[in-house]
Amino acid sequence: MDDTILKITGLTKRYGAKTALDNVSFEVKKGRIYGFIGENGAGKTTTIRAITGLSSIEQGSVELFGKSDKAGLIHARRKMGCLVEHPILELHKSAKENLKSQQLLYGNKDGSRIEKLLERVGLGDVKNKKVGDFSLGMKQRLGIAMALINSPELLILDEPVNGLDPMGMVEVRELLLSLCRDDGITIVISSHILTELYQLATDYIMISHGRILSTLTKDELDSFCTTHVILETESNGRALEALKAGGIGPADLDENSIRIFGNAGTKDVAKLMYEKGILVTHLAKHERTLEEYYMELLGRGA
Ligand code: ATP
Repeated sequence: MDDTILKITGLTKRYGAKTALDNVSFEVKKGRIYGFIGENGAGKTTTIRAITGLSSIEQGSVELFGKSDKAGLIHARRKMGCLVEHPILELHKSAKENLKSQQLLYGNKDGSRIEKLLERVGLGDVKNKKVGDFSLGMKQRLGIAMALINSPELLILDEPVNGLDPMGMVEVRELLLSLCRDDGITIVISSHILTELYQLATDYIMISHGRILSTLTKDELDSFCTTHVILETESNGRALEALKAGGIGPADLDENSIRIFGNAGTKDVAKLMYEKGILVTHLAKHERTLEEYYMELLGRGA
């Protein structure tokens, strides 16, 4: 069964002479959390506005829950909730009253849904408090509750942790992880900081200057960040020979360490050294940081 719920194909958008999106294509599959990563001005909000219907599509297509025609998209968008940057809240009203107003937009009056949602986002205890007195993190969680009011299958959040303190970030992260894990909601979340989304996303869509640089899973990202294995032994000369004969590598000697490239992991290397009776004094994976990998991608894209 194809579990693609959102498919963007060849999206191009210009503002006068400025190309904000250049042939953007990617897919979103059910039950996953996508980190949509790009520097300021990369095109994240423009893409999200096209998906949510807040801006028109000049070229390319958006297919949501299998629908890409105008009428079908309007219907499909009812299965989607979104929060673009900070939520629009009525500060003099309570969290509960804000949710009630949002629910009315969908023509719904189910009070129990509001109570459940407030508990779900951890605002049950403060539901009757004035929103103007809330911290930024609480306001963002209320914004997420508002995006969830119509029980969406897909949640799209544009920079939801912007400006949050570390505690606020953790609260939002825990909430989003649980919405995906426990409620099966697919999430697309944009940010300009890869490390911020590393603990949250299962997949990454990287955009820069309006172009998609890379789409990859967390496992792929991890493997790209592992560049080589470092080995130190009592006899590096013998170890190099053993690696060559064992088809592991390529490998080279860097001062007192051997650098082993290719697909071999530390386990393969340790096993081979053990079999050849070579004493290993150090064995580790060398990893690029996420920032290094991302900057490299940006460099290549430019
Ligand atoms: P940020 O993280 O700063 O929000 P972003 O990745 O969301 O950045 P967009 O807001 O999508 O980036 O902007 C993409 C490009 O399009 C930028 O160069 C921006 O200046 C330009 N742009 C966006 N909206 C408009 C507009 N209404 N008029 C003119 N140019 C625009």
